[in-house]
Amino acid sequence: MSSHIEKNNKALLRLIGELQDYAIILLDTEGIIQNWNLGAQRIKGYAADEIVGKHFRIFYTLEDQQAGTPENLLKKAAETGKAVDEGRRVRKDGSTFWGSITITSIRDEAGELIGFGKVTHDLTDKKKAQRTQALEMRNLELEQFNYIASHDLQEPLRTVLNYIQVIKEDHAHQLDDAMNDYLEKIESSSNRMRTLIRSLLDYSRLGKQSELSKVDTRNLVKEVLEDMSAAIHMTKATILVNNLPTLEGLATELRQLFQNLISNGIKFAKQNVAPVIKIDCHVEDPGWRFTISDNGIGIDAKHASRIFHIFERVETGLKHDGHGIGLANCKKIVELHEGRIWVDSNLGDGSNFHFTISNKLL
Ligand code: ADP
Repeated sequence: MSSHIEKNNKALLRLIGELQDYAIILLDTEGIIQNWNLGAQRIKGYAADEIVGKHFRIFYTLEDQQAGTPENLLKKAAETGKAVDEGRRVRKDGSTFWGSITITSIRDEAGELIGFGKVTHDLTDKKKAQRTQALEMRNLELEQFNYIASHDLQEPLRTVLNYIQVIKEDHAHQLDDAMNDYLEKIESSSNRMRTLIRSLLDYSRLGKQSELSKVDTRNLVKEVLEDMSAAIHMTKATILVNNLPTLEGLATELRQLFQNLISNGIKFAKQNVAPVIKIDCHVEDPGWRFTISDNGIGIDAKHASRIFHIFERVETGLKHDGHGIGLANCKKIVELHEGRIWVDSNLGDGSNFHFTISNKLL
């Protein structure tokens, strides 16, 4: 009988050892790796002799390590019997995969904790498939929208603008002052409409043609500031940049995000007060929280969420030429990075724009 159980146990161990889609490992009470199966090798890239004896913290991103995620999971498993997590994990070569992780506490007959069992399922393919499907749906909607915006709206507008030109060029002598005035108004409204349609198109295209890549945000901000050097010089703005991270994101869109927020900080300065803009970043699970603060005119709390809506502007008493799409673009860009954006500000007291970027993008 006992040899029957032993045989079954051996078969079970062999099965676990050969499972390819699951990394199944044993940890001691401190989290030190005790064994290694084929699945662990396939998913994480280490051979058994390279990894047995190391702490399982090695599979976690730097941010997760700093946040104490591996230790917290062990603590939870020790206290409740089981800890479940899903997130990005690091392979031997530094690349990452998306894993679903279950850690179970193992106790001896006396109930004493003797270690943990850890099962990791590689969900990268599943997650990629979900993402692709969501992207395909969104792209389809965007294509329909782009078609409508570019053909159905732009075409009649082009006709209106053409006829205005014809009237101005061929019938100028028939126009009195009042008619000239009306014509100017029609022309400037039509031009404004053209700008709005174009910005809608730009909005709809955000994220459409981009691929995730490693983005050094410190460098990116440096380049944005170089592009803005004329405005910075003219307004005598001071820009203070703190430590900024390298992250995985959409480079062109992130550049636009920083560009919009920094230029708003300059644009909405108090009269006769040189703008001071601070750019800062903190690690915040699951990623980072950036803050761009200014010493400008501030925003009344009652407008704090509406300014992120498309074409929404607030009467500021300042003359500026925006049309209320900058922050809507920022919101969409942040959401493409699975983050959120918000402002804390008081009228007359400067503004702090915060946004988060997730490090769990694939
Ligand atoms: P625009 O600049 O074209 O008006 P935005 O979408 O960039 O559009 O901003 C929307 C509104 O939010 C602005 O009209 C302004 O009232 C307010 N706003 C944005 N940034 C700031 C800021 N840094 N300080 C004060 N108000 C701001």
